[in-house]
Amino acid sequence: MAKVISIAIPKGGVGKSTTAVNLAASLAVAEKKILLIDFDATGSSTICFGFDKKDIVGNIFDVLSFKRAIGEVIHKTDLPNLDLIPSKILPADEERLHKITNNFYLFNHILHEEQLSLYDYIIIDCPPYLQGLTTISLISSDSVILPVKAGKFSLTSVNKMIEYIEWIKCRYNSRLKIEGIILTMYEPNTIAWKITFEKIHENHGDLIFDTVIPRNTTLCESEFLGKPGVLINCNSSGAKAYMEFAQEIMSKAKTNNTEPKVLNEAYGTSLSQ
Ligand code: ADP
Ligand code: MG
Repeated sequence: MAKVISIAIPKGGVGKSTTAVNLAASLAVAEKKILLIDFDATGSSTICFGFDKKDIVGNIFDVLSFKRAIGEVIHKTDLPNLDLIPSKILPADEERLHKITNNFYLFNHILHEEQLSLYDYIIIDCPPYLQGLTTISLISSDSVILPVKAGKFSLTSVNKMIEYIEWIKCRYNSRLKIEGIILTMYEPNTIAWKITFEKIHENHGDLIFDTVIPRNTTLCESEFLGKPGVLINCNSSGAKAYMEFAQEIMSKAKTNNTEPKVLNEAYGTSLSQ
């Protein structure tokens, strides 16, 4: 079974999608088999892989609403070890989505399909709110990564997220763990970062990853060029930081003996194109 990691926090613009895309790509470069699931209606992760509307055959909403099997919506990316399930939620579907996500364990059942056991990691890019898709993602995950950028509102959302994770753990998914907090768009010389850095270390120091993601232009170009930062310029500070982050995640899994156990040899033989 793959290790399932949600990238989640109830705040937009903090680097959730950038982290999901670049962590997934960096793990794939490190020869792990990765499935990235875009759970946000804005489809940021899907955009960062340069998919044209015409190239998209089905999405995660089709699977949750029993219109398509999971195998039909897995899309190959330019990275051989990385597959993507796109997101496309039309405004008219929002009400249905609400009903679908009330079935808390549906997504968990989907993730247990045999086809997905071919992956080492399943990374889920969550929307910037807790209800609905984020909740079913947390119920189905092994761990959560919380991206945080400078600002008081970011700090408030970290506390809110941690409380919510505790609630999900008690009620629905006792195996859920906090993988850690990743500091994104880091600019050490700003006052906002000095305060944020101090506060977050004071309150949640034990949860903060050693790797810090700097503010870096290559990472913003991703959404225009349709490629993860690590494929645009692997020597950029942003790409290097995400490669380092992937190494930190993998060595943490090794230390904690929570490495995914996978049928790697079968990968690629049964996935749809
Ligand atoms: P979220 O998914 O939390 O809403 P995004 O990943 O979409 O956040 O990031 C918000 C914006 O910030 C995007 O335009 C993205 O390109 C940019 N961004 C994210 N991380 C960085 C970074 N480390 N350096 C520069 N820009 C970044
Ligand atoms: Mg996003």
